[in-house]
Amino acid sequence: MDREDLRQRLLEERERMAREIAELDADLSKSLEDSSEESPYDQHMAETAAVTLDREIDLTLQDNAQATLTQIDRALHKLDNATYGLCDNCGKPIGEGRLQIAPYATLCVDCKRLQERNR
Ligand SMILES: [Zn+2]
Repeated sequence: MDREDLRQRLLEERERMAREIAELDADLSKSLEDSSEESPYDQHMAETAAVTLDREIDLTLQDNAQATLTQIDRALHKLDNATYGLCDNCGKPIGEGRLQIAPYATLCVDCKRLQERNR
């Protein structure tokens, strides 16, 4: 895959993530409005719990999307300074196969595993 194709793919992915974050944002502010309208005398516990859970799922999704977006920016930056495809941590090649699946990967499989274990 050449650099311009890659950049295009990353920019498309970035667009998709930004849209997802915006949608989740809209969801979140909507659920905030909903809960503030609720009267304290008319609270159905189960319903409130479900709303809270929805909110938490949205927040997690938003966190993930935000993290991916940051990673895409990082990958684009690496593309510019010709370190794309090299691991941020150990400097070894990330590997063609891994980049095919996740073009925004900035860590090799080994370092990624380490990072996840230390989380
Ligand atoms: Zn590495």
